[in-house]
Parts: sequence; structure tokens; C-alpha cells
Amino acid sequence: MKRKLPHLFRRAGLVLATTGLVGALLPQQAAAQTAISPAKLEALKKELATEIDKQQKSTQEMVDMVFSFGELGFQETETSRYLTDILKKNGFTIEQGIAGMPTAWMAKWGSGKPVIAIGSDIDCIPKASQKPGVAYHDPIVEGAPGHGEGHNSGEPLNITAVLALKKIMQREKIPGTLVLWPGVAEEQLGSKAYFVRDGYFKNVDACIFTHVGDNLGTSYGDNGGNGMVSVKFNFSGQAAHSAGAPWRGRSALDAVELMDIAWNFHREHMEVTQRSHYVIPDGGDQPNVVPSKASVWYYFRDRTYPKIMEMYQDAIKMAQGATLMTKTEMTYEVLGSAWPGHMNKPMAEAMYENIKMVGLPTWSPEDQVLARATQVEMKAPKTDRKGQPIDGLAMKLDSLSKPDNHSIGGGSDDIADISWNVPTIVLRYPSNIPGLPGHHWSNAIAMATPIAHKGVTAGAKAEAMTLLDMLVKPEIIKNAWAYFNDVQTKDTKYTSFVSKTDKPAVELNKKIMADYRPEMKKYYYNPGKYKTYLEQLGIKYPTVRPAGTTQTQSGGGN
Ligand SMILES: [Zn+2]
Repeated sequence: MKRKLPHLFRRAGLVLATTGLVGALLPQQAAAQTAISPAKLEALKKELATEIDKQQKSTQEMVDMVFSFGELGFQETETSRYLTDILKKNGFTIEQGIAGMPTAWMAKWGSGKPVIAIGSDIDCIPKASQKPGVAYHDPIVEGAPGHGEGHNSGEPLNITAVLALKKIMQREKIPGTLVLWPGVAEEQLGSKAYFVRDGYFKNVDACIFTHVGDNLGTSYGDNGGNGMVSVKFNFSGQAAHSAGAPWRGRSALDAVELMDIAWNFHREHMEVTQRSHYVIPDGGDQPNVVPSKASVWYYFRDRTYPKIMEMYQDAIKMAQGATLMTKTEMTYEVLGSAWPGHMNKPMAEAMYENIKMVGLPTWSPEDQVLARATQVEMKAPKTDRKGQPIDGLAMKLDSLSKPDNHSIGGGSDDIADISWNVPTIVLRYPSNIPGLPGHHWSNAIAMATPIAHKGVTAGAKAEAMTLLDMLVKPEIIKNAWAYFNDVQTKDTKYTSFVSKTDKPAVELNKKIMADYRPEMKKYYYNPGKYKTYLEQLGIKYPTVRPAGTTQTQSGGGN
């Protein structure tokens, strides 16, 4: 690092003094006025890092609190109330219940351009309840939902970052509007296409999204994931006594099964990039009543919008075929969707410079013991997808991930719908243990421990620094839009899977949460009484299987 001369600081101070006038200027001029010297910028970034380190206690409380709520998609009521209360206390204006989702919100602070949206998911995974810091299956509440994806950590990261940044923006009179928002029901790919459709990203200049990972990194271009449409097919037939008068019945469940058989035969003729899977949310009530209602819920995934639409159309034909075979009727509804992801290059490059500056957290021997014991428990592979060895927590900083144009497909994230409307990047931060299966109780083990807390602190620094860059260096957002217009959307135009009349599936998970919430409430984190959630639960950190004992039935992957 170069030594900075004191006069540069003074000069920067003079430039910044003029920004008091920005209220009267046009947005572009206002942005131009904020240019500050590299030395000043570097000093401000150091200040951000120091401030974020000072916030470690409140970061830990937020991470642990949201972990303890463990709320499934569309039912994130406690989480939303808790997070928006913090933002309200810090001067943000909240618009609650956006796009027809009671748990969705937009929190705004600041004024003028640029407008930067900062988001992260908040929902959890069914049946993933797990005691943090324990390296084998040990649920807090048996069968209950839990943060087996780590979505408890992203909004705490964003809040930590923006609160540190806000102080500097106020003091230095840096214009800009920060908009925080949650990924509601990400596990159902249930919200972001609706936010876009309803205009919530119209006046946004750029978006930074954060997602838990096991390293600090970001990427640009095609991220190799699949897009997806989630569709529920509802069949209706005719009830009858299954033994007394079965000939008078028309089984909706037969239609579900025949549709599934057709789809499973069809798989032989599909490309390797597709992923499709289903569950039967309603298969009838009891065997002696011919099921008059039955439904099957599919996720159809592939690498491009046309391919996904083809799957969707094929499935509708099969569902119609099933009704012909069973003399039943069918309707279908979209429950969620996501485009294949494409992230912004200039923004990713700006972020990666800060990632290098921040680096990975310093892990304690206890953190490593927990990580390795969990990897043994879960029979983690020896190397990751990039060929890097998996052994404990990440020790080598991730590289800036390049586009993956030859991917054979994978998961989906509806942040992609935002990324096709506004230049967007996803910051991944090291709050979890490498080599775990995902969507699983083992992915919750680290998520209210020092591993998660340190990962969030590192991520908050990289995010706050990048936000500051974007506020004071107008060329980043200018270049981001040039990439967006001239490269990303040159040949590919966004068409939503969601129609004008589709409604978000806000009823999803209502019953599961109603069943488990009373018991889960007993374990909500009480930061007034306990320093950490580990302390509240009486967990010795780390708790690992005593040497020589073998895995129980519940260990090693449900
Ligand atoms: Zn996720």
C-alpha cells in the first residue's frame, strides 16, 4: 500500500465541502460532485472496517435472533418485524407489505442519486431445526423448520454495512439513497419476479445482493445456474365409496400419478441441463374415499427461458392427457419463478477489489474443529466443484468467478429476475462450512456460531466499501449500465414467467408454521439475558461426537 500525503486529505475535504449544494443539483451533477481523492476514499474504507468491527456485538445479536425465529417462506413475520424495527430506529422509512406480500418491505434512507438496492433472503428450510455448534443431528424442536440454508445471516450483514456507511454519508454529505429489501420465500422462488413486475426496481440504479456461502467472493456473467418455473397442477374428480361404489368415482390422485409417470418417461428425452422434481401436496384424504381432489407441485428448471417454457408447455400437455385418461379436470397455477442468473461485470470487479482488501476471517481452533467434525459427519467430498480441497473452513480467498457458459445446470435463485432488470451482483460471504449438502439441517450448524458471525462481519466490510465506491465513483454505475445494455441484454430480453394477474403464493407454509411456532417460540433468542444464542441453549462450543462413537440413524443425511 502506498503512503498517502496529508495534503491529499485536505484537498479531498475541500471537494467534499461543496457537496452541501447537491440538493439543488440534477442527479447526474450531484453524483459528479462527490468525486473524492483515492487517499480520502481509502481512509474512509478503513474507517468503515473499524466501525463494522465495533458493531460485532449487534451483528451477532441479529444473526442469532433471526436464526432462532426459523421462519418458512411467506411466513417471515417475526423476522420482518425485528429487522424493520432496527431499520426504523436508524432513520429508515419502511413501506411494509409490498407486492401483496405481508412479510415483504422496502426500507429507504438518504436522498438523491444513485439509488442502490441492497437485499438478502430471510426464509428457512422445512425440517431443518438444528442446535448451532453441534456437529451431528440434534434439533432444537424435532421436525420444525430451521435455517438449513443460512438465510438468517444476509440481512444482518446488510444492516451492519449500511449503518456504518450511513454515518460516513451523513458526515461527508455524500448523496445517495439506500434501499434495503428482503428476499421473501426464496426457497419457493416466490417473491422477486413480483417485486420487478410491480415496479419496485424501476428507479433503482444498481443492486447488491448478499448470500451465505463458505468463502468471500462474487462473480459476473452467466453464473451457471438454472432458471425455473414452479407450477402446481390441481386435479378434481368425483368422490365415491372406494369399496361400495368405486365405479361412481373419478380419482384425482390417478391423474396425478399418470401425469408423473408421463413426466418420468419424458426425462429420457430431455437435455442434461434440465432439473425437474415434484412433491404431492394433496394425495387425497383416506383410502376408502376416492380422492376428488389431488395436486402435484413441480419445479421445472433449465438454462434458458425458452427451454424452461418448453418444459412448462410439455407438462401442461401431460396434465391434460392425465385428465383424458381419468375423466377428471385440471387447473394449474404458478407458485414461483426465477430466470437464469447473469451478474454485472463492472460491479463484480469493483466488489472483488474490496474483497481482496478485506480477506477471510481468522478462524479459531474451535471453529475448525466444528467444521471438520461436521464434514466427517456429513461425508463431505474431498474437493469442491472448483477442485479446491475441502478440509475445515476456507483458508484461501476465492477468485473472481468467471462466467460459466458450459454449465450442466444446477439450482436457481430469483435474484436473477432483478439481475435482468437492474445491474446486480451477489456477494457470497464465509458464514458456513464447505462441503455440506445444502437445504439440510447440517447447513444450520454453523449459522449461529462464531463462524457465521465472523463471516458476516467480513461480508459487511466488503459490501460497505463497495457501496461507498459506487456512491463516490459515478463511473462504476455508468459502466455497469453499459455492460447491462450492450452485453448482457444485447440478445436476451427478459420476459417474466409471472403474468400480470398471478398472485404471490402467500398461503404457502402457513399451516406448518402454525403447527410449530408455539414450540419454537420457547427458544427465541433473548439477548437481554444471554450473550449468545449458544449460551442460551447451553451448548458447549464446539460440541462434537465423542471419539469412537458412530453415527446414529439421524446422522449422515436425511
Ligand atoms: Zn439461498
